[in-house]
Amino acid sequence: MIGKDTLGEYKKLRDFTRTPEPKGRVIIRPRQVKTRFVIHEHHASHLHWDLRLEMEGVLKSWAVPKGPPTKPGPKRLAVQTEDHPLDYIDFEGIIPEGHYGAGTVKIWDAGPFELLGQKDREIKFNLQGKKLKGTYYLLHFKEKNWLFFKGKK
Ligand code: MN
Repeated sequence: MIGKDTLGEYKKLRDFTRTPEPKGRVIIRPRQVKTRFVIHEHHASHLHWDLRLEMEGVLKSWAVPKGPPTKPGPKRLAVQTEDHPLDYIDFEGIIPEGHYGAGTVKIWDAGPFELLGQKDREIKFNLQGKKLKGTYYLLHFKEKNWLFFKGKK
């Protein structure tokens, strides 16, 4: 279950008078519009990557401490974090010291995202980025914890 969060948590964690991050809102785009993903490289207190998938009018988000797998094989821990607004897909910048997520945010990869299937504990999808291409899976196993890995074909 991805669960409902929408943007309440996102807004609660941030002071928009201080952070350059977008305030954003939930935007359900027409069905025919292609959905997108982004992976941010986030130099926070601990370097990690943030996987964000456009679903349900927001960016469903997971922090991947060891980075996204580019080949089949490695299964990476992905910890679900608060939903982010769609505007965040283009965000790059510096979150000031003393604020939530302080540090540099850069786009590591981005491109079309296609949802292929969704079950209670599994999301199957296709990514067409520059670095990540092909079928990927997210498997929910415990609380906020998921496994993120590339399919074999
Ligand atoms: Mn992050």
